[in-house]
Amino acid sequence: MNFHSLGLHQNIVNALTEKGYTAPTPIQQKAIPAILERKDVMAAAQTGTGKTAGFVLPMLQRLHNGTKVKNNHARALILVPTRELAAQVASSIKEYALHSPCSHTVVFGGVSINPQMLALRKGVDILVATPGRLLDLHSQNAVKFQNLEILVLDEADRMLDMGFIHDIKRVMKLLPNNRQNLLFSATFSDQIKALARELVNDPVEVSVTPANSTAEKVEQRVYPVDKTKKSALLSHIIKQEDMQQVLVFSRTKHGANRLAKQLTAKGLVAAAIHGNKSQGARTTALHNFKTGKVRILVATDIAARGLDIAQLPFVINYDLPHVSEDYVHRIGRTARAGASGKAISLVCQDEFKLLKDIERLTKQVITRQIIDGFDPKEGLPESKLDDRPIKPKKPKKPKRFK
Ligand code: AMP
Repeated sequence: MNFHSLGLHQNIVNALTEKGYTAPTPIQQKAIPAILERKDVMAAAQTGTGKTAGFVLPMLQRLHNGTKVKNNHARALILVPTRELAAQVASSIKEYALHSPCSHTVVFGGVSINPQMLALRKGVDILVATPGRLLDLHSQNAVKFQNLEILVLDEADRMLDMGFIHDIKRVMKLLPNNRQNLLFSATFSDQIKALARELVNDPVEVSVTPANSTAEKVEQRVYPVDKTKKSALLSHIIKQEDMQQVLVFSRTKHGANRLAKQLTAKGLVAAAIHGNKSQGARTTALHNFKTGKVRILVATDIAARGLDIAQLPFVINYDLPHVSEDYVHRIGRTARAGASGKAISLVCQDEFKLLKDIERLTKQVITRQIIDGFDPKEGLPESKLDDRPIKPKKPKKPKRFK
């Protein structure tokens, strides 16, 4: 199967060939024809499956024809949970639209609103946005949706986790009824299903990995260790395995800063990325990591959400996430688009319950390995798979990006 046979225009196929894509990924094979047929789509796909191209490519083709966009209007809207993901989706659009006439822009909070208002003045074919900033721009009449043809909710599960449900509903009320809706989510909780019922009409359902399953090509390991030895073990394994590019997850912003400092002091160049860092600092850290200037990026879950670093070989969970679904997202950063990867979790005795929850969610017992010299004094109890069904989570209070 090739991109041409999916019904994509030669201009678009050329841009993909220049980018080195030879064949569509499974999600692309399923989603592209359905979107071209103007169907609503509900897709279960994690980051790393090629989902962005899965909706952007047919969108470019659909928008190629049709009316020219009016001032301050948008023809397609892609809603995403975080600034990083917004920037990333926009940069993918830029590449895929290299030979297409579609215009696009990206808006998110944390940076000045004026340049974004200016960029919207002449209207855009595709607008990528985080919900809070989009609503601000709309309230200032900088963006209008009367001619909107396509809505995408990307990483919908994360948007709900971050409390964006009310903002999403507010945005939905502003849109014309007659539009195509595309819903992408890594996991399909009952809450997402409820949102889908309000959003999509008779959708084509596309799934490339069963909900909540962890990427198959990711080799997962738990390294049991005492809490006090975690930092030493982290630098030990980075050196031992000669990891040239590794994403380390920390549960807290403070922890991320501290770890980056400790690693750098040991000669392992590291940068931290989290919500308290300015947009500029986050972009620089990500750029340095992608280009190999910084070997280790220490990130919190929200900051790392959706980071697109092609073929990231290693992910280390310095501490386990409190929300088990975040484990699936974290390790989804590795083994992207067919490559293999390794996800290591440093787990101390206090975290046993979190480990159990993750193993229950992902329906597996993760292989453990004791590292020489780091044998824990406080042992980690053996895991036994808990196969009781998982109750849906209660929605969180709303939180908005400004
Ligand atoms: P995504 O799941 O959209 O975050 O994409 C994950 C990664 O896969 C990105 O680095 C894309 O550039 C890459 N990718 C997407 N589609 C393809 C393809 N058909 N062939 C090779 N790489 C791809």
